[in-house]
Amino acid sequence: MPLLPRRFARLQAVLNRRMANLTVLLEHVEKPHNLSAILRTCDAVGVLEAHAVCLEGRLPTFNSTAQGSQKWVPLHRHASAAAALQSLRQQGLRIYGTHLSAGAVDYRSCDFTGPTAFVLGAEKWGLSQECAALVDQAILIPMSGMVQSLNVSVATATLLFEALRQRQAAGLVPSAGEGLDPGRYRALLFEWAYPEVAAWCRREGRPYPELDGEGAITESLPRTLRLRC
Ligand code: SAM
Repeated sequence: MPLLPRRFARLQAVLNRRMANLTVLLEHVEKPHNLSAILRTCDAVGVLEAHAVCLEGRLPTFNSTAQGSQKWVPLHRHASAAAALQSLRQQGLRIYGTHLSAGAVDYRSCDFTGPTAFVLGAEKWGLSQECAALVDQAILIPMSGMVQSLNVSVATATLLFEALRQRQAAGLVPSAGEGLDPGRYRALLFEWAYPEVAAWCRREGRPYPELDGEGAITESLPRTLRLRC
């Protein structure tokens, strides 16, 4: 079935607002409902992609809480916290670790309008010492109840929506794909619109076909593939 122009317009509208300079790194966050809720929040806020360091031999898994958001927010896996942080730093992101340490500051006192990565820790243990030592700034969400910490997905949502609020107030939320390299934008739009064709192109080592203004593929494809579009 051809992609409907209305669906294509919606994909474009969502991609136009994605932020490449706001992300999360999840260190050993494991429970499917937490990973799912976090990716769903990333999608809602407009986070382009998320990052994770998984325990050895474990793959991130999602459940219905995600509502399919894992399709729209890729979760990149890294071999270690150090490797992940190095890669995020190379992208120019300032790294905020959620860590209830003496040096941690109230998240509301921070400026998240610049390139920002939040690092969240495991459900039971929190951030590893190794990771906590490598962040640029430790932050916390003040608590005034009997329980010491929030659920990790709630903490993530609190921080991401604060970053979004600050960016909206500063007029820094993209509306037309600003901050995304045009080639990357085109590739992502194609992958979102035609995931099966995109996978085939990658397997064949071919560039993605061009799309017309309504999202239709402008070149002819093998019949079996066309039937799956
Ligand atoms: N016992 C763990 C500890 O001491 O860190 C609790 C881990 S908590 C359930 C899981 C993760 O949620 C934390 O590593 C942190 O990333 C985030 N988190 C929970 N409460 C938070 C808070 N009040 N401020 C900032 N982050 C918080």
